[in-house]
Amino acid sequence: MFPEVLESEGVPLQILKQGSKGGTLKLLIKFEDGAMAEYAALIYKKRKIVCLSSRTGKCGRSCGFCATGTICEGKSRNITWAETLAVFFLIIKLASWLFTDKILASFMGQNEAMANATNTCNAIFMLSAHENFSFAVSTIGQKENLIEFIKLVKSMGLKVKIQFSLHFPDQRVRQKHMPATKGNSLKDILNILEAYYKETGMEICVNYALFKELNCRINDFILLRRLLKGRDGFYVKFSEANTFYNPYTKILYAPSEGIFYAIGGRILSAAGIKNKEFHSVNDIEGVACGMMTSLYSE
Ligand code: SF4
Repeated sequence: MFPEVLESEGVPLQILKQGSKGGTLKLLIKFEDGAMAEYAALIYKKRKIVCLSSRTGKCGRSCGFCATGTICEGKSRNITWAETLAVFFLIIKLASWLFTDKILASFMGQNEAMANATNTCNAIFMLSAHENFSFAVSTIGQKENLIEFIKLVKSMGLKVKIQFSLHFPDQRVRQKHMPATKGNSLKDILNILEAYYKETGMEICVNYALFKELNCRINDFILLRRLLKGRDGFYVKFSEANTFYNPYTKILYAPSEGIFYAIGGRILSAAGIKNKEFHSVNDIEGVACGMMTSLYSE
């Protein structure tokens, strides 16, 4: 039976499930009110990353390739900044990391962090007290949330890297797989992000998970190039998709063949767009965001 109630920084927590492999640690945390969320500690090319969630339970944005947005269950609520700090310090302890290590606190776990902007920014503000911590926030790009978040980041004087989960460069296809992006033109979102880069100097990472037969045709890369060509401050991160079968739409999201990383990279590089490949270093069962909660509630 997994453990007793712990206290981290005075906040009561329970670890419901824990997995670790080759430097990767994955946790399912239960808060005092029964709400659950997933967290991870990852080491990628010697870089230490704590992956943080911003809301518990199912994400209302319902992206088709994401367990959190589809099959995940449990109470859904904002995670407070105090809870985030408590879990962050717990993870550092469990991973045996030191405060002298450079650690990236990345809000790329469960749910859209920009929809919980106040708690996300407060947590970043508190952790910014340590010079070895840096911060990244992932977003699917919803205009109002993005504007609000950037306003808060600027007013609080925070240094935050934004990671934009674009994945589908064709607006109509994107809306099919990421329904909450409907009404948010990609050009508008990229304009806002470009302005953010120009004001802060923080480069924008465009996340592009390569899903077999869904977004890695030549034309997809040409569309992506068209969107980014001539813009300042962007680079594309082609990453390995987690395999996920969506039982509602019956679409299988599977990793693409390796060659498409290279083809996509060449198409972008020819237009001067920076890009890189990211291959997952973790193979713990249920490591994809939302999977552990789903497996636990089965
Ligand atoms: S990808 Fe992010 S925004 Fe989309 S459903 Fe999953 S957690 Fe929510």
